Amino acid sequence: MYSADFHTHSLCSPDGSFPMERMALAAMEAGLQEICFTDHWDLLDYRGNFCFTYDWNPVRAQFAEAVARCGEKIRIRFGIELGEAPESFESADRGLQAAPELDFVICSIHNMGSAYHGGKDFYFSDYKKNLELCFEHLDLYFPKLLSCAAWGNFDALGHLTYPLRYMRDRDGQKVTFDRYAAQIDELFRTLAGRGKALELNVNRGGDISEQLAIFRHYKACGGEFVTVGSDAHKPEHVGKSIREGYELLREAGFRYVTRYEKRKPEQIKL
Ligand SMILES: [Zn+2]
Ligand SMILES: [Zn+2]
Repeated sequence: MYSADFHTHSLCSPDGSFPMERMALAAMEAGLQEICFTDHWDLLDYRGNFCFTYDWNPVRAQFAEAVARCGEKIRIRFGIELGEAPESFESADRGLQAAPELDFVICSIHNMGSAYHGGKDFYFSDYKKNLELCFEHLDLYFPKLLSCAAWGNFDALGHLTYPLRYMRDRDGQKVTFDRYAAQIDELFRTLAGRGKALELNVNRGGDISEQLAIFRHYKACGGEFVTVGSDAHKPEHVGKSIREGYELLREAGFRYVTRYEKRKPEQIKL
């Protein structure tokens, strides 16, 4: 079936180092029909600096090279992973408006926000001996997601379980989202009501089994649109576990996966 990776990074991301052309070649090698580049624009970067404007030109140049080299063999889409939008929704709106060619926008929260010790990505916290710190941070996380959903200038909400990558998978805390069930319910109903997608981030081939309950919940809240992305920052991760992601969505009751072009969803049969 049709396979598309709708979350990838190139050297246009601070944590990426491969040209888009190299990533597009990897997508072809992985047997994909489509790749969407979603490099980072974090309004608050991982060092706690505000970045309220974005220079699209280096991304455009990379994109043009990838299209020139591979565009006849694979569909290549122009996207962005917009992080920390609640720092300034106005700036986010302005920045997105400056790139009318955008196919797809992921909205992500990676950071506790500037009001919390000047801003800190979840990645930089040591959760090993501190379960309470996990909840202190999650207490900040969910209201940010809700404010993003209310704002709405994006296509998919990115990697809901991002904080768990560090709290649980890296630092071993047995933390769950159970105490946030009401907020997640409200979040899913808002996303579904506004026709937004929930992203299944397969995290470069990591364990996705817990996502089944999340996507069942999203479906029960009326969610229709779902995107799948590897979050690859390296060629070897492009397309990794996309098909397993499709399988999980089928199991969760979805009949379609969503791709975007010029920010319009198209449903692809699973
Ligand atoms: Zn992210
Ligand atoms: Zn990403």
